Amino acid sequence: DVILSVQDLTAEVDGNPILKGFNLEIKAGEIHAIMGPNGSGKSTFSKILAGHPAYTVTGGEIVFLGQNLLELEPDDRAKSGVFLAFQYPLEIPGVSNVDFLRVSYNAKRKHEGLEELDAFDFDEVVQSKVTLLKMDPSFLSRSVNEGFSGGEKKRNEILQMALLEPRLGILDEIDSGLDIDALKVVAGSVNALKKPENATLIITHYQRLLNYILPDVIHVMADGRILMSGDKDLALELEAKGYDWVLEGEAVGA
Ligand code: ADP
Ligand code: MG
Ligand code: MG
Repeated sequence: DVILSVQDLTAEVDGNPILKGFNLEIKAGEIHAIMGPNGSGKSTFSKILAGHPAYTVTGGEIVFLGQNLLELEPDDRAKSGVFLAFQYPLEIPGVSNVDFLRVSYNAKRKHEGLEELDAFDFDEVVQSKVTLLKMDPSFLSRSVNEGFSGGEKKRNEILQMALLEPRLGILDEIDSGLDIDALKVVAGSVNALKKPENATLIITHYQRLLNYILPDVIHVMADGRILMSGDKDLALELEAKGYDWVLEGEAVGA
């Protein structure tokens, strides 16, 4: 089962080309990682998947579960099962986390033709996820992300993902700013959420996250396209040799 298929994608921001012929295929049950130097277009790709308006697709196609993703409004993409965890989650003072989570959870249920859950029934669902992710239940009554540490914000994004059970979860730099303990918790949660019918795309600059999450496929991206794909050994090779090795290989056509 192919979850996501991207063919020859080109995209620009303010007239500047950022993606320059990007190809990717992700199948159900797989975890993929996109690595690469800063500025290579990793976040641009994740934002295009989510439908961010600042990015203009100029060519190619994105097929998600057999449908043309680019035809869907951002809201409908989310409801169809694309979930993007933000690198910098928003704070929403005055709105409790549990209410916020219930709104997104119910929006998805509605889209699936299911009845919305009231606060009481939702509580049961969300508590089970909080337990699964080994989170402190007091998390739920606090305002959305307000005063959360970096690690807590990331865990809150993972909690949202656990509730929505997206067909494709995209985690952009979920590891940035995390100490090793928080990193392990976040990685453990991603592993706990792995299911045969869903897929996860991890975007990271650093290899260390991949000590705790084992992707099925690792891609190296530079200058708007994927230059190399491989298994976990590629991450170790990158750790040892750095990105320049891939970029130089490209330059000499290796
Ligand atoms: P990465 O996530 O790999 O570090 P990005 O996708 O964030 O790379 O950025 C790729 C390039 O696109 C960079 O040169 C960046 O400056 C540019 N870019 C990304 N988003 C915007 C934007 N909203 N406005 C202008 N330039 C942008
Ligand atoms: Mg960056
Ligand atoms: Mg980025």
